[in-house]
Amino acid sequence: MTSQRTRNRLVDRLIEKGISDPRVLDTIKVVPRHLFLDEAMATRSYEDTALPIGYGQTISQPWVVAKMTQWLLQSDRPVRNVLEIGTGSGYQTAILSLLVDKVYSVERIEALSQRAQQVIGKLELSNVEFSMSDGHWGWPAKAPFDAIISAASPAELPQELINQLKVGGRLVMPIGEHEQKLYGFEKTLNGYKETCLAEVMFVPMKTGVE
Ligand code: SAH
Repeated sequence: MTSQRTRNRLVDRLIEKGISDPRVLDTIKVVPRHLFLDEAMATRSYEDTALPIGYGQTISQPWVVAKMTQWLLQSDRPVRNVLEIGTGSGYQTAILSLLVDKVYSVERIEALSQRAQQVIGKLELSNVEFSMSDGHWGWPAKAPFDAIISAASPAELPQELINQLKVGGRLVMPIGEHEQKLYGFEKTLNGYKETCLAEVMFVPMKTGVE
């Protein structure tokens, strides 16, 4: 079966699971998830599941990618620049790069960042900048952001990420160690509003770089 047909089937599955934003669904339909995985895993690329990418990390489940991206785009304000924490395979990076003007992506494992940059380069997605750093601190030089997304789960919300959002900007990330929940935060003039979006299982947000 061609990857296009399997991607279409994945999109049907995401619609059944409640994803409705056509921008997100259309993007998942075109991004070749199999290119972000090792050959040994590639046959499973279009299953709605997280899969290993080495170094103890995983490519996020497509439903999770869709849910987080959809929530960011539901903002009343235009979403132009996005900070991504946890480049990992680069799959979520590619999805974002087709939906916004500029993506800034940070990763703490050098080998993963390098591999993701190669795939993103091959796909000629030129609106992405990468950095090797600890995402707890955001990317101050590029702030403020319209949106921030994290695929790694800290024990508590890093206040610095709220600081680096524009007022009205949105942050979506898992919070918690053993039990995690996916939260959406919207920055207001004097703080933020939070919404719990789902129960999830992400890798932990670690400190420092490797
Ligand atoms: N969206 C990615 C998710 C990869 S898993 C994908 O679908 O492939 C989460 C990633 O976050 C891992 O690559 C992990 O190394 C990275 N990570 C964990 N803690 C981090 C931190 N403090 N700063 C930056 N990246 C971090």
